[in-house]
Amino acid sequence: MKLTGKQIINGTFVAGGTDTFNAVNATSNTPLETVFTEATDVELGNAADVALEAFKVYSKVSHTQRAGFLRNIAAEIDALGDELIETASIETALTHDRLKGERQRTINQLNAFANFIENPDWVKPIIDKADPDRKPLPKPDLRQMQIPIGPVGVFGASNFPLAFSVAGGDTASALAAGCPVIFKAHPAHPSTCEMVGVAILRAIEKSKMPPGVFALVHGKSNRIGSTLVMQSNLKAIAFTGSFKGGKALYDLAVRRKEPIPVYAEMGSVNPVIILSGAAKEKREATAKQLAGSITLGAGQFCTNPGVIVMKDESDTTSFLDKLTEELSAAQPMTMLTQTISKSYLNGIKQQRSIAGITPLLADPKDRILPHLIMIKAQDALKNTLVLEEVFGPSSVAIISNNMDELISFCSTMDGQLTATIIGTDDDLQNAGELIQVLTSKVGRLVVNGYPTGVEVSPAMMHGGPYPSTTDPRSTSVGLTAIYRFTRPFCYQNFPTFLLPEDLRK
Ligand code: NAP
Repeated sequence: MKLTGKQIINGTFVAGGTDTFNAVNATSNTPLETVFTEATDVELGNAADVALEAFKVYSKVSHTQRAGFLRNIAAEIDALGDELIETASIETALTHDRLKGERQRTINQLNAFANFIENPDWVKPIIDKADPDRKPLPKPDLRQMQIPIGPVGVFGASNFPLAFSVAGGDTASALAAGCPVIFKAHPAHPSTCEMVGVAILRAIEKSKMPPGVFALVHGKSNRIGSTLVMQSNLKAIAFTGSFKGGKALYDLAVRRKEPIPVYAEMGSVNPVIILSGAAKEKREATAKQLAGSITLGAGQFCTNPGVIVMKDESDTTSFLDKLTEELSAAQPMTMLTQTISKSYLNGIKQQRSIAGITPLLADPKDRILPHLIMIKAQDALKNTLVLEEVFGPSSVAIISNNMDELISFCSTMDGQLTATIIGTDDDLQNAGELIQVLTSKVGRLVVNGYPTGVEVSPAMMHGGPYPSTTDPRSTSVGLTAIYRFTRPFCYQNFPTFLLPEDLRK
């Protein structure tokens, strides 16, 4: 596909600005051919205006037609074939196999939302019929359902160029809900973004949807994202990325004349608690699997296990020895961008300077290798820097003197996307208090598994208390993600002919 490097707004390619940037080959760190032009304020305003116009039509489109549109997007992404995988691999250094899996996940997500909205119950109809004879006052007819909230601004992360990007879970759920989407392309994979944007454009034409229902805007400077959030026609923001980025956009959105909800899914250190029996009886297998989870995708997952919590007992040292051995077998890795590599190496440098830490692996210097340090829980509490996300294949082992200290340490942790408990049946029988504490801290608690690998399923909860997200009541993965972009609406005393079909019962 010949790329333009332009914004896609109202079905056309536009680039009125003068600020440009190139996509970069993530492996060689050399610029790629296409020059991308950053969106101007006027273009961002136009995208929001046409999104609002499109909303008037798109929000009224039948669930069946909308489902057809989502399936057409999935089919058009599939039709991009190997060129999409090759392009994404050049921009991200992710392997073809990983990207093929991600493409399938993206397609499955779109189809799953299509199936979901074909069942009219998805709008959660509540029919509360009138009772004209009620005393002392007659009761009105009240009917509630979920309606789309309006145009949504979506920001994707660098580490999922397909599944959390242009047609990823946020876009799929917003479009399924009936909301137009303006997507801010991630500058780490703008070519991939344009290709998927073109697939959506083709699906719009095929499904005869209003062209303003989707826009793709480019930008390498924060101005673009900030200006997008301030567009008065936008009614919600979905963000996946760093804490810094998510919090900055959240702060902007709440200061708008009309504050809007921001669903920011941010970083997390995903504590893994290894209980005594497991450290002793499942040492080899647990160490191997945990090392696999830490290094998966060069550690570039928001669910990466960045913290391991254990009690100080005889089996702890041998477990950590085994884990160190597994991690040290890894080969140097390539990260998504030079900036992410630099932040990883800086994060490690910072961790190694914290008082009380014991490095369990050598300083990787300028290479991207796994990293592991150990610190006593009481020292970690004195320097919470040790608990900050270092995005990459690194982890910190926190050693507590006893179970009370372990639980008390967990209770001081910030909100997380996940926590994991590894234990034998005996360990788990006695883990009631720990489970209670962790339940208050996370969105998903894993037992005898690993946090990486987020299943796309109706029951999935991918979110959690602040600062892992800005709204613990919602998920960005799974079908209930759709309700971030709807709001409850009540029709009072409407004659049947005026009611939406979903409420005519
Ligand atoms: P990022 O740097 O925050 O970028 C995400 C997007 O937000 C980009 O489009 C970026 O555009 C924009 N942005 C960031 N800061 C901004 C600001 N201050 N103002 C306006 N726009 C801003 O994140 P990333 O490096 O791509 O992703 C890595 C992070 O994402 C890790 O922390 C990881 O844990 C997290 N993550 C979370 C999840 C989850 O589901 N919770 C999933 C995947 C990744 P610019 O680059 O143009 O600034």
